[in-house]
Amino acid sequence: MKKAIDVQAAVAIASLEAIAAKTQGTFGVGGVMLDSFGSVLQAVHNNVIRNGLVYDPTAHGERQLIDWYYAQSAKGRALPPPHEITIVTSLDPCCMCAGAILAGGFNVVVAANDRQAGVNHEGDGSFTALPEGLREQARATFAYPAVLGSSSYARTAIGATPPPFFIGKTIAEPTQALCSLVFEATAESVTGLFDADPPREQLRDPGTLPPEHPIVRALKRTCPDALTYRCTPQRPDAGLAPYLQHAARRDRAQGGPGDAVVLLDAFGNLLLRCHGQRSQSAIRTAFMECTRAYAQLRYKLMEGATPAQQDEVRQYLGHPRDGTFVFAQGPGDDAAGFMNLGAYGSTMEGPLPAHNPAQFQYVLPALDEARLAELCADMPPLYRQRIGTRPMQVRDAALVAALRA
Ligand SMILES: [Zn+2]
Repeated sequence: MKKAIDVQAAVAIASLEAIAAKTQGTFGVGGVMLDSFGSVLQAVHNNVIRNGLVYDPTAHGERQLIDWYYAQSAKGRALPPPHEITIVTSLDPCCMCAGAILAGGFNVVVAANDRQAGVNHEGDGSFTALPEGLREQARATFAYPAVLGSSSYARTAIGATPPPFFIGKTIAEPTQALCSLVFEATAESVTGLFDADPPREQLRDPGTLPPEHPIVRALKRTCPDALTYRCTPQRPDAGLAPYLQHAARRDRAQGGPGDAVVLLDAFGNLLLRCHGQRSQSAIRTAFMECTRAYAQLRYKLMEGATPAQQDEVRQYLGHPRDGTFVFAQGPGDDAAGFMNLGAYGSTMEGPLPAHNPAQFQYVLPALDEARLAELCADMPPLYRQRIGTRPMQVRDAALVAALRA
């Protein structure tokens, strides 16, 4: 098994993954997972974009490594516990990945800073982007090793000490610069791929398609309940309760807390109804499943299709920013809740449209509204400014009462 007993060697592996990601046309970020001897367990790169299409908005390196870890464990492979595992990443974890790392209890060593979306966007190791209850854990497990040099890439060590198996504990300046530049070279063009969808006024109602239409068939294969519920756009009502309750029951059966998420489109049609898969992975929450399922549904319909066919898919299955995500339970200030908020940001990638300010709705609150607003206001600039993450409770009192019952 390949070993990386110096921070520099591990970051070099992550940087090669980042280069491979750039070549694929996705965000130039990579990561590697090591055991407590420095043995390489797995190396991956970002997979958000494949073939010029959004494949999976949650496919960041760190998130994939963590799901890989849990999938291996679920298959019976004996792996060390998360607190003995170290993820080395070429870029500061975003809020989704930071939440996933903290939920699992992994260690992380970070190369490049990310002022827009990084959990340490302020660069001082204060982690004010995190809910207060998670900051201490981050300070103890997130390491930003020193970069020796005199360029703008140099930095003093911040945060945790890199795990003890590392002999060399610094990053070489050119490697740090490479990690930064590979990401910067891709950020704008990849974010632009999230804007390839038509605006609200050009969207078409999938409820008007015949049942044998390929889009309807693919939708039904992903979610048999698709197109069986419809409400006034952006106004989920009590009719949605049985769908959320059914998913919540399935979530509990999978070891989850009764987590359920529904995606409604711009016309108020139910497209997907999801529950978590916690028995497979501690970070497979209902929202992670839902945003992934929707992206992959669109991807499979568009991959290899003609431009005209792709346009049709984009018209009937619009960008989620024109629809509504309805959570049975609102985000909490725990690591999984923070991960969901982060993954929501990675799904939107850009500003919410003015006509759809209530894109993110929940039925039952986990936190009071002011506390939740505060938590969102503390998030890095991508989430609080560019996207304007703003979860709000559904307005329908009967839906709230039905789920409370
Ligand atoms: Zn991430």
